[in-house]
Amino acid sequence: MTNNGLIFDIKRFAVHDGPGIRTTVFMKGCPLRCWWCHNPEGISPKNELMFFEYKCIRCRTCAGVCPAGAIFFENEGGFPKIERSLCIGCGICADACPTNAIRLVGRVINVEELIEELERDVLFYDKSSGGVTFSGGEPLAQPHFLKEALKRCKERGFHTALDTSGFAPRDTFVEVMDYVDFFLFDLKLAKEEHHKKYTGVSNEPIRENLRLLDDAGRGKDVLLRLPVIPGITDTNENIEGLVEFASSLKDIRQIELLPFHDVSEKYARLSREYKMLDHSAPPPATMKRIKEAFERAGFSVKV
Ligand code: SF4
Ligand code: SF4
Repeated sequence: MTNNGLIFDIKRFAVHDGPGIRTTVFMKGCPLRCWWCHNPEGISPKNELMFFEYKCIRCRTCAGVCPAGAIFFENEGGFPKIERSLCIGCGICADACPTNAIRLVGRVINVEELIEELERDVLFYDKSSGGVTFSGGEPLAQPHFLKEALKRCKERGFHTALDTSGFAPRDTFVEVMDYVDFFLFDLKLAKEEHHKKYTGVSNEPIRENLRLLDDAGRGKDVLLRLPVIPGITDTNENIEGLVEFASSLKDIRQIELLPFHDVSEKYARLSREYKMLDHSAPPPATMKRIKEAFERAGFSVKV
């Protein structure tokens, strides 16, 4: 087993990913397919390209250097097309592009290199009671790298947070949970059939892992996060189901509501289908209704 992981970004000075000022490590690969995913570049467990059409000067350099014949031009003076099934993710085109119109998403990093990068922000962690957050993608989809990185962070005295869907085998969850100080844990859909339809996976392992944390007395270290998606997660039926489930947990009493926002441009840059084109942000009345429903059940609600 190697200490290497595949990440797609390291965001410094993050203030929405746990307490204080944090550095967020975005890991690549996720077993879920949430229709509204706002980090689609984190879904694939492999390197992939993002194409920024507005930067492209149609010079054709990229097609000339690609060793896999994965870039072609349909017409004279047009923009390049990427045949993603042929692309091997080598990044040669991105290095050659004179305007950065093609960007390789995905970077292999080992634990020591990561810790070195995180060390740069120690001052901010100390001053703000912040730390390091692992996000994605789904960090638990790279369990070995995640565990080693968390361990090293703890050895360095960094506060650690895990931003997770909770979808992972129980053993994997147990292996890492003691190295995590704070959990940002998604709660999406109460009904199993809806969960499968809109995220592609069962809700069961997620609920089990959440109960595991609660039973281990870690409930106070958990912030639930509900993406408010109009017509999908914001229905009265779903909110009632989620409130009922969340209320059955002993100590987990914090939730944050995350309103839907449009990320269609990102999907276009990755040539991915975006299923949310006809959706817009939830109105304030919806946010208020959901906030009040959780507050009535004794939750502290962050919007
Ligand atoms: S990443 Fe490599 S294989 Fe893929 S399009 Fe670019 S040059 Fe070709
Ligand atoms: S090398 Fe860059 S600027 Fe030139 S055609 Fe390719 S993507 Fe466009």
